[in-house]
Amino acid sequence: MTVPAAPRVSRRTAELGTENAFVVLAEVNALVRAGQDVISFCIGEPDFHTPAHVQEAAVGAIRAGRHGYTPSAGIPELREAAARYMGGMRGIEIDPEHVVVGAGAKPFIAYSILATTDYGAGDEVVYPNPGFPIYESQIRVHGAVPVPLHLKEGRDFAFDPAELDAKIGPRTRLLILNSPHNPTGGVLRRADLEAIAAILRRHPQVWVYADEIYSRLVYDGEFVSIASLPGMVERTIICDGASKTWAMTGWRIGVAANPVLAAEFTRWVTNTDSCASHVGQCAAVAAIEGPQDAAEAMKASFHERRHLIVRLLNAVPGISCRTPGGAFYVWPNVTQACRMVGAADSEEFRRRLLHEAGVAVLADIHFGARVPGEGQHIRFSYAASKAAIEQGVERVAEFVRKHARRAA
Ligand code: PMP
Repeated sequence: MTVPAAPRVSRRTAELGTENAFVVLAEVNALVRAGQDVISFCIGEPDFHTPAHVQEAAVGAIRAGRHGYTPSAGIPELREAAARYMGGMRGIEIDPEHVVVGAGAKPFIAYSILATTDYGAGDEVVYPNPGFPIYESQIRVHGAVPVPLHLKEGRDFAFDPAELDAKIGPRTRLLILNSPHNPTGGVLRRADLEAIAAILRRHPQVWVYADEIYSRLVYDGEFVSIASLPGMVERTIICDGASKTWAMTGWRIGVAANPVLAAEFTRWVTNTDSCASHVGQCAAVAAIEGPQDAAEAMKASFHERRHLIVRLLNAVPGISCRTPGGAFYVWPNVTQACRMVGAADSEEFRRRLLHEAGVAVLADIHFGARVPGEGQHIRFSYAASKAAIEQGVERVAEFVRKHARRAA
């Protein structure tokens, strides 16, 4: 087919990165439509309905005519509720004036990079690798310099503070932290955060983006925010949201708090979305202020499923899987399994799992370049039913066993 002539696409858009979870999901959906039986562990969203009282609040908001634009920073009730909620969880005071509501937590990644770095000026942003792929793509497209900070399996996917120390310098403008972490499920513990804070105190020009979207999903020990450590709150952008805690991914409500940048983020929202969905904001107030039993039940269910998937994966020949501290992801090491089935790397392993075994996962390269010396990994989101976890991991085991027998 000939493509009609059209003007060119800009280089920055042509080179813009993406979130490969959505790309693989499209591939999976195409296979499913073609009649293939696929068990999917690709997408990072709760497999629950939004709690009933939150749905009711949204319906009530629509009927009450709350469907117009809101102030760009969000409706006052939500800013107040979010300030109380976010501050309470972190043991700090947050002024509602310092809270901005966005169309999900995701836009604040771009707003934070835009508010702290200048295009093409050599400003550096340090971010976790492996990590949420949007960090790197947004750093690049906004003309800053990406500086990956390697996460280590041997440290339960926390990074080594000494490596951070080596990577922070006078050009660093922003440090992105994500705890609990996507894709590894790793959690930054108090001792790690204290070491990070000690380094940051020597570099007062560095802002911190604390991506705490999984803050309510910590299974062992406490959730600690870097913002709660002495001297950190002013320079930390705390980001949280409704997506993961109350199963509200499609409602698109996220919140960010910072005393200085709130005003800048508000202007960014005016420039992009105008405001987050009015109905969604009303629903989020109900989610924060209402009963938490649904959120707690979802967490308990993820906790059980974490136990199940870790146990089953560790029984698969050639796979070893750490127990992650939070979120709903596992990041098993499949270096040996790749060898056993004759796959060159985790991406070939992933593709063959999808096409030959009917199991959809993501590969480590969907979360940044592989960390040297760390081997091959894949990511399972275990926000899937227990039956899917049991059958899916059994398919993986059968796939590995079959090819290992053949090789022998
Ligand atoms: N940060 C991380 C680390 C995430 O995993 C996600 C969602 N996958 C987001 C941010 C975005 O969440 P939201 O739906 O609130 O935009």
